[in-house]
Amino acid sequence: MSQSSVKSVVVVGGGIVGTMHAVLAIKAGFTVVHIERDQVPQSASVRNFGLIWVSGRQSGPELEIALRARQLWAEIGAEANIGFRAQHSLTIALNEAEFDVMAEAANMADAEQREFSLLTQAEIVALEPNLQGSFKGGLLCKQDAAVEPVMLLGGLREYLQKSPHYTWEPNFEVVDFFNDETGNHVVDITGRLISGDLMAICPGAAHKGFLSEFFEGAPLRKVHLQMGATAPTTRPLRHSIADADSMRYYPAFKDLSLHKLAPQPEVAAMNKMQLLMVQRLDGSFTIGDTHDYIEPFSHEIQEEPYEHLTRVMDAILGTPSPAVVRRWDGVYSQSTSSDIYFRKSIAPGAVVVTGGGGRGNTISPAMAEETILEWAKL
Ligand SMILES: Cc1cc2nc3c(=O)[nH]c(=O)nc-3n(C[C@H](O)[C@H](O)[C@H](O)COP(=O)(O)OP(=O)(O)OC[C@H]3O[C@@H](n4cnc5c(N)ncnc54)[C@H](O)[C@@H]3O)c2cc1C
Repeated sequence: MSQSSVKSVVVVGGGIVGTMHAVLAIKAGFTVVHIERDQVPQSASVRNFGLIWVSGRQSGPELEIALRARQLWAEIGAEANIGFRAQHSLTIALNEAEFDVMAEAANMADAEQREFSLLTQAEIVALEPNLQGSFKGGLLCKQDAAVEPVMLLGGLREYLQKSPHYTWEPNFEVVDFFNDETGNHVVDITGRLISGDLMAICPGAAHKGFLSEFFEGAPLRKVHLQMGATAPTTRPLRHSIADADSMRYYPAFKDLSLHKLAPQPEVAAMNKMQLLMVQRLDGSFTIGDTHDYIEPFSHEIQEEPYEHLTRVMDAILGTPSPAVVRRWDGVYSQSTSSDIYFRKSIAPGAVVVTGGGGRGNTISPAMAEETILEWAKL
């Protein structure tokens, strides 16, 4: 199937994976109808940190896809109003053991690709005068970046809507999919039909419903997280901040001497916590997070994890951190196989794409690019 004979694409899902599919399909010259069940998307893509986090990616294909995505983010971020900024990260060592593991990280074979450097406390303070805690130093990553989750999807749609070949269809909940000789089709509960030659279904963690048969036995799980936001502060931080607990969870660091780290505090270990902290454009910090892998997830938001995060923030900032004024939770879909994410062809020209996990925002443009490249081969 050559691109000249196939022009129409349907994208299901208004989260970042679906929206990046729409962006790259429009750039590739297709017409796109973009479907979303809600009035505006409410799921993981608007509940996250907005981090484009290359530093934690596992060496090999996962790092490669993250680096490719990082390039695409820079290109798209220059065209669309999404708050993209090359905001580097600092992972802070609060003690010698953490600093020693970061020294190992700075010497990893691919440390240069990640643009890692090990910094002393004085070097960090020179970069970030508002970090006044009694930490030992940290790991700088110059490949990391950030976008504003509250601007992201709207900003990309605004960019897309400049094209006469893009149509946004909110409030359309797909309840059925079929393929026939005329193409790929989805239907809502009223029987309304939307059709295209090609289709990308990007449903996030909606593993059930009309896709149940395609997700049967799929290596996917849902992960539940708790998050918070502080009041705005006038103390700017130009870097995203992580604590050393993040190294326990990011696969980049799995072969380092993590066993030399002191055990996590009980609340952090129970909730599989790390501190990630990103300053938003309004001066507030998005902070988190916890991880729960066992369904059914609790509907309650717990206070203790936020108290822990506040203590870690205080230790890094060296001053009382701004109050947590908002809390929310979120669920993402995560591949449990060695595949970086889940991709399944369900009919000629129709594909389901999800499972990017905790790096789904980071790698989303590269996930979409892989779909467009596949379509080019049809
Ligand atoms: C709290 C939290 C923090 C995170 N932090 C980061 C981070 O900083 N960096 C990072 O890289 N990743 C992060 N992630 C992961 C990232 O947010 C997700 O991997 C990513 O947003 C998934 O995007 P998605 O488009 O696949 O799914 P979603 O954002 O869930 O979007 C799926 C969309 O499909 C729609 N949909 C589903 N079913 C239908 C249907 N039947 N008909 C029509 N529409 C349908 C839904 O309404 C939804 O809008 C975080 C996730 C969470 C929850």
